[in-house]
Amino acid sequence: MFTRRALFKMLAAIGAGSLLPAVGENGMARFSGIGEGLAFDSSAQPRDSRAKPGEQAVEVSGIEQWEDLLDDLDAVELIGRYISLRPTGDESRNSKGPCPFCRQGADSLLVDGRDDSYFCTDCLAGGHALDFYARIEGLSLSESVRSVRRLMESGVLQGKRPRLKRFQCIIDEINRFAHESLIHGREGVLASSWIDRQGVTAETAEHFSLGIMSYALAEQLRERLFAMGYSKNELEQFGVEGWISCMEDRMRDGALDLALLLPLRNAEGCICGFYEQGIEDAAGSLWSGDFLPYGFKLLFPRQAGRLVFSNFDPRDSARAVVLVGRPWDVVLLAQGGMDHAVYVSPLDLADCRDRLGRFLMCARKIIWPVHRSEVNVGFVRNLLSLSDQSIGRLAFMLLPEGERLPELLRREGLAAIQTCLAGAVPLKALLWV
Ligand SMILES: [Zn+2]
Repeated sequence: MFTRRALFKMLAAIGAGSLLPAVGENGMARFSGIGEGLAFDSSAQPRDSRAKPGEQAVEVSGIEQWEDLLDDLDAVELIGRYISLRPTGDESRNSKGPCPFCRQGADSLLVDGRDDSYFCTDCLAGGHALDFYARIEGLSLSESVRSVRRLMESGVLQGKRPRLKRFQCIIDEINRFAHESLIHGREGVLASSWIDRQGVTAETAEHFSLGIMSYALAEQLRERLFAMGYSKNELEQFGVEGWISCMEDRMRDGALDLALLLPLRNAEGCICGFYEQGIEDAAGSLWSGDFLPYGFKLLFPRQAGRLVFSNFDPRDSARAVVLVGRPWDVVLLAQGGMDHAVYVSPLDLADCRDRLGRFLMCARKIIWPVHRSEVNVGFVRNLLSLSDQSIGRLAFMLLPEGERLPELLRREGLAAIQTCLAGAVPLKALLWV
């Protein structure tokens, strides 16, 4: 059924697309309305770029500043400065009020608190909150971006910062609880023996602040969070409730619902979410490519899209970084003395091209371990869809068939792996080997 809400969502997405022509004062960035709102369209990168050295870094940082602004601002707060908004009363952060553009109904203007869009059911005005601001202030979009950024920086607008603070407290508490459960809890014994069999020491587990979680533990955690003053609605908004339901489903399906949690940190070192790693020997590769709980992704979708899992800040590293296929590989390689591995997304360009492509634009030199059997027409075609600069920074190391880098490291030793990495070849050479 085509509901009013679906119509609102669709039109909001179309409205968001109206930002297209105005973004990127140097004409370098292009955005398109996709799904929940605005997303960076990496296919917009010029294939035949004549960018001077260093120019691309400026471009990426410009895009990131723009994305941070979109994530940080709060449409209800911004639009609420011009019209009186009241919550729609359905526990969402949606609000409604009179439309300043047509002055028809008393509550024809709807503001979606999740994707920061607005839509008038009478005059059909709609778009992102920045569109609203530009229109009501009579500014161009780039002027309104500058102006809203100033309002955020001076503290006139709070944006989502208060919610981020609450989220950070919740996620720190989850980390503390999960880590304590691994070290002292009854369930921790099973997980610790799996970690031990993987060759990972207690020191490494401590270094990564590993934890465990199961449905039973999550129920205890929920009670602890309630006792700390967090409401059920808040836990839902931050994705904790959805995460717990996934664990409940897993338990009902008869699967082992106990999993390791690998805290994922941003560049400032704050935990933004967790990767999960299954601990059944038969399913050693069972892991989640997504990070949980979903909170940070719900609050800051664009910044969440830039998070990577590693033992260092890949952007600060002058050394080559090594792409790995699982978050757990980062831990295994660190244990073996290789601390420059990074997990960005599953290494499948057909599915994760945008996320990988974005990382490749920022890192300096990247080594990608591949199996000869993976280097087929589809793989090369997907690679060639990346920018020339990204391809130029990539080097490939061939892995023995059926073997992962951590297994090779364990068998051959660190010195042998370093020799293999030093011999990594560019794409052209890979195709002719
Ligand atoms: Zn209107």
